[in-house]
Amino acid sequence: MANITLENLNKSFGKANVLNNINLEIEDGSFTILLGPSGCGKSTLLRILAGLEEESSGRIYMDTDDITEKEPKDRNIAMVFQNYALYPHMTVYQNIEYGLKIKKVAKEERKSIIDNVLQLVELKDHAQKRPKQLSGGQRQRVALARAIVKRPGAFFMDEPLSNLDAKLRNHMRQELIELHQQLKTTFLYVTHDQVEAMSMGSYIIILNQGKVMQQGTPKDIYTNPQNLFVAQFIGSPP
Ligand code: ADP
Ligand code: MG
Repeated sequence: MANITLENLNKSFGKANVLNNINLEIEDGSFTILLGPSGCGKSTLLRILAGLEEESSGRIYMDTDDITEKEPKDRNIAMVFQNYALYPHMTVYQNIEYGLKIKKVAKEERKSIIDNVLQLVELKDHAQKRPKQLSGGQRQRVALARAIVKRPGAFFMDEPLSNLDAKLRNHMRQELIELHQQLKTTFLYVTHDQVEAMSMGSYIIILNQGKVMQQGTPKDIYTNPQNLFVAQFIGSPP
């Protein structure tokens, strides 16, 4: 477990500057939200932190460990995507087991780990189903379970609830808050939805056009927006 630090991070695609000199610290164990309008660079930032995309310049640290050049698998981060990316031909159990097999965890231990995580995400009765037999919320919980068993130092989630209907989304928000309390691991959560950000996060980073506009607790940001963009985006009082 560690604080994640970004130092002078820049990213361009061709001539387009997508991230402009980002300096941030993501506190260990926090539920940090990366909030901003579509196209502002949220996914790019998350992908760079996870090692799935290369930065143009800048450094990334986990505590004092410089991870900028590390492969994704060596970064101790688990990523949960919007489209879940489950294997359709495998059962729920097998989907979760797959990563453990790769890590050469013994069969007995795999079973105990998976039984525990299925309990945690309330999918015990669905272990032998395939993804297409599940609802959107259940699939999202399988994706979470698969990430949890990796015991990462941080969970990165990129708009994980955006494919769910409003009712299920509300339910899953609550579940994620509870999951964070149980795991006590860093959650870095990307959304373009202010309401979602304000209701879930312990710390919010607001991004616009590749720049950090403001960061702080939801209360800080709501009561003391530092610029017009933030005030308008959050809808806080002038
Ligand atoms: P967000 O997740 O906030 O919606 P993105 O990080 O996906 O924003 O994209 C930020 C900007 O970078 C957008 O203008 C997008 O078109 C551009 N972009 C993202 N990925 C690529 C890519 N692989 N090649 C070129 N441009 C990209
Ligand atoms: Mg995105």
